[in-house]
Amino acid sequence: MIEITGLTKGFGGGPVLNGIDLSIAPGERIVVIGPSGTGKSTLLRCLNFLDRPEAGTIRVGDLTVDAAKATKAQILALRRRTAFVFQNYALFANKTARENITEALVTVQRKPRAEAEARADSILGEIGLAEKAGSYPAALSGGQQQRVGIGRAMALDAQLMLFDEPTSALDPEWVGEVLDLMRRVAEQHQTMLIVTHEMQFAREIADRVIFMEGGRIVEEGPPAQIFDDPRDARTKAFLRRVR
Ligand code: ATP
Ligand code: MG
Repeated sequence: MIEITGLTKGFGGGPVLNGIDLSIAPGERIVVIGPSGTGKSTLLRCLNFLDRPEAGTIRVGDLTVDAAKATKAQILALRRRTAFVFQNYALFANKTARENITEALVTVQRKPRAEAEARADSILGEIGLAEKAGSYPAALSGGQQQRVGIGRAMALDAQLMLFDEPTSALDPEWVGEVLDLMRRVAEQHQTMLIVTHEMQFAREIADRVIFMEGGRIVEEGPPAQIFDDPRDARTKAFLRRVR
């Protein structure tokens, strides 16, 4: 079980996250939607301490982190339990596909290198890129780079996978293969928190859709309810704009 309570973050101006409360069941797939600048990325980044929340608690399994007094060891432990997939892939340009995955296992999971390499090879097979193991990101298509980004996150066996607009930077021709890989991750009962503008995909994959605005969860529910019968005027207005 993952339990987020009172998560709060600002960047010197007003609050960007206004005390987010969210429980996520094992294997649950949640899609977060909402207008630009509303705190969706900040929420995901705070869960991985890429941004440091000011207040609130994050509980992932047996680990509870009080944001206000998180220690380095707790932050590392949290990062071991939460894997992040970035919009712009965030691969090391000077490392091959295989090394990008291996490195994450060595630094985050403290896996011995030989073990990490074996795991990377098995993941490369799973994501259909065994032949590209020795390729550098620049020699891969956008879709292949993002598959490596997802593979790197898969390799960590994290309790929660965080996806921040994983297909937004892709040329349209590569979106399908990345969504297909995410469907396969979902089939493995991986717990997923996904920010995306792919509404059809959200409808298909999500157990729950969360609409955020102004650093708050405004409305949440099963996809059919949020997309076909939204209650809040802000949700309605947003969906009218994006459709
Ligand atoms: P988008 O849909 O455009 O990705 P978002 O919902 O992900 O938007 P965030 O990126 O979380 O929005 O940003 C929320 C607010 O926090 C914005 O007003 C943004 O300018 C601000 N913000 C985010 N990161 C920082 C930062 N590092 N420093 C200062 N302000 C920031
Ligand atoms: Mg964002």
